[in-house]
Amino acid sequence: MSNSISLSPDDFHSGHLVVDSDRNIVFCNTYICQIAQAESSELIGASLSGYFTKASNIFIDSYIYPLLLSDSLVQETQINWLSVEGDSIPVTANIKLAADGNTYWSLYTCANRDKLQGELIKAREILESQSKELLLLASTDSLTGLLNRRAFAVQAKKLVSHLLRGSSVYAVLSIDIDFFKRVNDTYGHKIGDKVLRHLAQILSSERRAHDLVARTGGEEFVMLLPELSAEHALEFAERLRRKIAAQPIESLSITVSLGVAVSDLEHPSRFEQLLDRSDKALYDSKNQGRNRTTLRQGFSEAS
Ligand code: GH3
Ligand code: MG
Ligand code: MG
Repeated sequence: MSNSISLSPDDFHSGHLVVDSDRNIVFCNTYICQIAQAESSELIGASLSGYFTKASNIFIDSYIYPLLLSDSLVQETQINWLSVEGDSIPVTANIKLAADGNTYWSLYTCANRDKLQGELIKAREILESQSKELLLLASTDSLTGLLNRRAFAVQAKKLVSHLLRGSSVYAVLSIDIDFFKRVNDTYGHKIGDKVLRHLAQILSSERRAHDLVARTGGEEFVMLLPELSAEHALEFAERLRRKIAAQPIESLSITVSLGVAVSDLEHPSRFEQLLDRSDKALYDSKNQGRNRTTLRQGFSEAS
């Protein structure tokens, strides 16, 4: 079949270069002249290295030419053309080494691809930061900024299994504001909220680095205190109770009742068991008149 089309390298919307073994340009098509913003007469005879960025020249020396020598072909390589203004223009190139020592370069610019990639990276960063925010929102109580009940349970379980592996004791503190309904009824819900935030601040300021603090219900808070013996946990709880009673907010004094449960090294308890025990200790404090701390000793489920 005869072919009546007469083709020229300028018909292709891609760059074509022939480079001799001294790496001088011996042929280029119009596409190359356009990205080089130069006449072909200026390009022919010029060194190839003058048209690529410094980093790309290093890559051409250390990767492209060695690979051409071994495989005679380099495909889909990403390099940067240097514009006359000194801008870097990303290009994708296929390069073939011929038997005569010339290399045949086919390339096209891919600024759009890089732009798209940049946009994709930006979109991914936005998604990542949004998912971090969502995670924070899902794990914190919006009123106080403390952990919520669900996040506390997850983190506490992890921390406790770590503590038990290291044979460390830990304490759980259940805290509940006394007669909080009266605060709301007398001063309004807004002041009630202020009191909750105020209490959260005291708990946060008293916590040590590895303690967990959470708001687990309306006016109920829980702390997990690693490596505290029963004696020290009781001391900590009493100090907290006195501090809360001594710091009125807008001349409004509140008190809290506390329950303390401490793990037993010989009979290690699951976190849920200890939380249950500290809750029961808290109800003992309520039943005995409030504004007090009760420690529940013992390790059995019934205790
Ligand atoms: P007790 O000493 O037995 O714990 O009495 P109490 O009044 O503190 O306990 P009760 O369970 O009867 O009432 C708890 C109150 O906490 C009722 C509810 O209005 C209030 N409360 C729960 N969540 C919030 C909140 O987010 N903001 C405010 N302002 N109040 C809340
Ligand atoms: Mg209460
Ligand atoms: Mg309560």
